[in-house]
Amino acid sequence: MTAPPYGLRFDCGRICLDLVATAGGAPDERLTGPGQLAAWLAGAGLVPRGVPLDGVDGRWVVRFRALRDLLSRVVRDELRGRAADADLARLNSAAAAGQPPAPRVVRTADGTLARTLSRPPDCAGLLAAVARDAVGLLTDAGARGQLRECAGEGCRLVYLDTSRGRRRRWCSSEVCGNRERVARHRRKEVEGNRGKEAGENRRKEVEGNRGKEVEGNRGKEVGENRGKEVGERGRRGRPRGRRGKV
Ligand SMILES: [Zn+2]
Repeated sequence: MTAPPYGLRFDCGRICLDLVATAGGAPDERLTGPGQLAAWLAGAGLVPRGVPLDGVDGRWVVRFRALRDLLSRVVRDELRGRAADADLARLNSAAAAGQPPAPRVVRTADGTLARTLSRPPDCAGLLAAVARDAVGLLTDAGARGQLRECAGEGCRLVYLDTSRGRRRRWCSSEVCGNRERVARHRRKEVEGNRGKEAGENRRKEVEGNRGKEVEGNRGKEVGENRGKEVGERGRRGRPRGRRGKV
C-alpha cells in the first residue's frame, strides 16, 4: 500500500478523527489547499475514487478546517471532562446543514460493481457527513470508551483503541511508537556513556590519589632518613666534643 499524499492519515478509526488528525504534529497543517482536501475526501472514503471533485476550492478548505477545530475541541473536552454546550450546538448545526449525497452501486465496463454518488458532492453535504460521524461516535458508549489521546511526545492525535488488550499507547506504532523506541534507545546509550565516563573519572581520581600517597610516602621516607642521618651524625659528633671538653 502506498502512503497517502500530503502526510494524510486514515488510521484513527473514525472519519471525524481522521479529519482532526489533519492538524497538529509535523507538519502542523495538512489541509493546506484544495488539492489536499480533495485527497483527504477521497482517502477518507467520503467521495469514491474517480468521482470528480472539481468544486473543491479555498472556501471548502476554510469550512473543513473550521469543522476540524470544532471536532478537535469537542472530542478532547469530552475525553477530559465535558464539551461546552455551545460547541455541541455547533456540531448539531453542521450535521443538519447539508445532506450527504446518497451512494449508488453501478456495474463497470469490466463487470465488477463500483460505488458512485447520486449527485456531485457539495461542501455542506460532505461537512454534514463528517459531523454526523462525530455525533455517532460521541453517543456510542462503546466507541467513546475506546477514545485515546496518543502518548507520543508532541503528538496530540486522538484515535480509537480497538486493540485486543486495550493497551494501544500510540496513534501509530510505525510513527509515534517507533519514535518512542528510538528515543528510549538513545536515552539508554547516553546513560551508558555517562556511566562509562563516571567510571573513567573515578579510576583517574583513584590513580591520582594513589600517586599522591606514593609521593607523600616517598617524601616522608626521605625526611625520616634525613632525620636519622642527622641524628646519627649528631650522636657520632657529640661524644667527640664531650670528650674534647673534658
Ligand atoms: Zn502519535
